[in-house]
Amino acid sequence: MRGGAVAIVGGSIAGCAAALAAHRCSAGAIAVFERAGKELRDRGVGIGVHEARFAELEAAGYVDSAAPWVRLTRRVWTVRDGAAERGRDIGSQPFPFRGYNWGSLWTELRRRVPDTVDYRTDATVTGVEPDADGVTVQLADGGSEHFDAVIGADGYRSVVRTSMFPGLAPAYAGYVGWRGTLDDVPAPGPDGDDAHVVGFPGGHCMLYVIPGPGGSHRLNWVLYATPPPEFELDLRTPTSLPPGRVASALTQYLRSLVAEHFPPYWADRILGTPPESTFLQPIYDLEVPRYAAGRLLLVGDAATVARPHTGGGTVKALQDATALENAGASGSDWTEIAAAYDADRTAVGTQVVALGRRLGRAQVEKAPDWAAMHEADLQAWWAEQNQGSDQRSGFGGHAMNRS
Ligand SMILES: Cc1cc2nc3c(=O)[nH]c(=O)nc-3n(C[C@H](O)[C@H](O)[C@H](O)COP(=O)(O)OP(=O)(O)OC[C@H]3O[C@@H](n4cnc5c(N)ncnc54)[C@H](O)[C@@H]3O)c2cc1C
Repeated sequence: MRGGAVAIVGGSIAGCAAALAAHRCSAGAIAVFERAGKELRDRGVGIGVHEARFAELEAAGYVDSAAPWVRLTRRVWTVRDGAAERGRDIGSQPFPFRGYNWGSLWTELRRRVPDTVDYRTDATVTGVEPDADGVTVQLADGGSEHFDAVIGADGYRSVVRTSMFPGLAPAYAGYVGWRGTLDDVPAPGPDGDDAHVVGFPGGHCMLYVIPGPGGSHRLNWVLYATPPPEFELDLRTPTSLPPGRVASALTQYLRSLVAEHFPPYWADRILGTPPESTFLQPIYDLEVPRYAAGRLLLVGDAATVARPHTGGGTVKALQDATALENAGASGSDWTEIAAAYDADRTAVGTQVVALGRRLGRAQVEKAPDWAAMHEADLQAWWAEQNQGSDQRSGFGGHAMNRS
């Protein structure tokens, strides 16, 4: 990348990390185009980062421990058991993750982007057009600018990806995630905290504590369930579910599901979360045939969208940036850089998406009869889902050094 001008479309986690990568391999001028206004909306939600993957990314210089986080040690799986306040624990497994607040993780990454990077907000890219010696970026304000290369970090509805692979779009997995954050929960102890999963017929809900504003803590939760056919949702085109009639009917359905199937303690937490702190997110799968083509490259969710059960989307985005840095440092022209980057990341992206499909099938589409399970059943069932993965691959993200 030495000396070239690079545009990065999208300034979220993947975009900030890509800007840092481009800076480190001496791109001449770097511009980030971010559609959102001055501050990216504090999405406030939780992001789990596997400890081993964090250590690799810290060594690579993309994260450090400055952003507040919560140490998670175990994941406890629970079902309703009549009126028992906390239900019955099916079993538990090690869960060496850091619980982050998306907002503080992003703020920390944004702080690392050098001042020499031209980070523009309210800057929507409407299209990219490659030519013989670069790429023209079209902007919503009618302007256009020419760059030597463009990195698409513009998430699951990426315009850069659409230009590379017209017709390729995320595929709806058939179910939704209902997310929420409950403010002001007790701080975890010095030894860390458990993450929890509540199993119910046809789905499950993952819950863990993350940092909140001013030293407070929040309970972050995501419930995965398949909307019944009567909702007639058409989610084939990638979309979020904006507030409105359909969303409120679906939320009502999910609330009654929680009231019926959750242990009272966890039901109170979900149903006590203010509606304005919850939202619905259809779940999608996406893989690309290549992470790079010519002078267009993809990072993060723009490249591959893995179902959140993998707990590795953010790790994957940050690893993409480190791979970009390595490819940019050794490649002498864009053909070489793109080929090296593509060789490093395309296979990993495909594997993470496949793991997400497998976990989604096991935990939602064909969820087991959780209430009939005990510790040994849980361990055997979990081992089956993760077949083919080892400690260095799969759940929580792949190890950066896979040799
Ligand atoms: C329910 C759920 C739970 C998750 N939990 C975890 C977890 O526990 N651990 C984990 O590691 N990952 C998790 N993830 C995944 C993780 O959030 C993402 O994979 C990761 O943050 C990478 O995001 P990104 O930067 O690639 O994309 P995004 O965060 O989507 O950013 C894309 C950016 O591009 C901007 N943009 C889009 N289009 C344009 C345009 N045309 N012009 C200019 N700007 C544009 C957007 O405004 C946005 O800021 C979860 C995801 C979901 C849905």
